[in-house]
Amino acid sequence: MFRFTTAVKGIAIDLDSFEESFESWNEIISEFNCLFITSSQEKKEIVESLLRAKVLLTNQFARNFIPNPEVQRKVLLMLNVQESELAYLSANLRFMDNALTFYSCVIYVANETLDYEKFPRLPDLVCNNLSDVKAFLTEGIVSYLGEECFSQDMMKPSAAAVPILEIHCDEDEILLISLGRYYGSKTYMQQLHPYSRILFLNKKKDGKAFRTYDEEFAKLLSETVKTYLKEYSDCICSVPTRKGDINRFDIIVERIAQENKLENISKQFVAKRAYGTQKLLSYTERQENVKDAFAFEGNLAGKRVILLDDIVTTGGTLKECFKTLKAAGAAEVYFLVLGVNQKEIEYGIANQPRVCCPICEAPMMLFVNATNHRLFYSCMPCSHTNGYEKEKEKLLVRINQEFAQIDEIANEENFDMPI
Ligand SMILES: [Zn+2]
Repeated sequence: MFRFTTAVKGIAIDLDSFEESFESWNEIISEFNCLFITSSQEKKEIVESLLRAKVLLTNQFARNFIPNPEVQRKVLLMLNVQESELAYLSANLRFMDNALTFYSCVIYVANETLDYEKFPRLPDLVCNNLSDVKAFLTEGIVSYLGEECFSQDMMKPSAAAVPILEIHCDEDEILLISLGRYYGSKTYMQQLHPYSRILFLNKKKDGKAFRTYDEEFAKLLSETVKTYLKEYSDCICSVPTRKGDINRFDIIVERIAQENKLENISKQFVAKRAYGTQKLLSYTERQENVKDAFAFEGNLAGKRVILLDDIVTTGGTLKECFKTLKAAGAAEVYFLVLGVNQKEIEYGIANQPRVCCPICEAPMMLFVNATNHRLFYSCMPCSHTNGYEKEKEKLLVRINQEFAQIDEIANEENFDMPI
């Protein structure tokens, strides 16, 4: 699922960020309700005459600050869609970042692999080109693999994208493949993002849902390895656990290894010394914390290794593992994770949406039933519960109404002025 958008009914295109020819937009506008945003009068005229599409003209100065609430409002009116029905399409990082402050979905078009350091928060979908955009949207692929599988249609992945990023470790660029995004407890999304909650609850040792999703994760990870990594790798291991801890990836790694005919080298990859939890540490502290913490007991000469971990936050642990595996002779290392931690950014939304208890109005928390895997909201103070789908739908209606109200007030302004 996109963060809020369930069906894309309108696309706002950040035209100035694209180098594609005007004609290449035909495949998108023939299928979708589109609006082009540009700061160029010349481009505006071409789009209007050649493509016969709607255009929103902005001024050059405002370029770095869009989309902003003003642009969002105009876009919604011109496309005649609601906030939860709109997708922004851009190839510009700053535009994408601004667009992510709205509930609308954000599709990023990247010609090259995303640089992990530059993406503290990921867009809702990454595509390589316009044909991909069209294919994804027409096939109804609306998010990353893990997020898709653990939303309403549990474990029925039609097809979905996986975020592929690149992490720098000194001179090396290491590929990082993730099943989706992870929103921590400090972002409002943790209340609205089933995948994040499932990641969290599945690893919460004293919780009812502890490890109830291992089977599903194993299946998805194995599929991902098969699609993206099998050809390029020889062996697989997970990040070593601290001494005395059970490695909850043991069974998962073994299954991936067997299904993809890879060597399971987890037992040889160990933690040399105790190290504290990485939680609450800064990037530099994290690097220090795991420095020289691992050892590989064996020889990896010429081997290509897949390294599995659950959530990547700064990449500190992965990088340290990389150094150890490289020192043991590994020719290539690939990172495979369940989620990329979306940094604790408040998403710039002033009134953060909340699912609140209909009885006592306290914010509710998202849980999962360990037996039937159904998602539900629960209120701590009064124990009232309700289904995930129902509450989320009510929230969407509320969000869309709130924006519509702002619309009515702002509507009286002059509409023809460039923004
Ligand atoms: Zn309550």
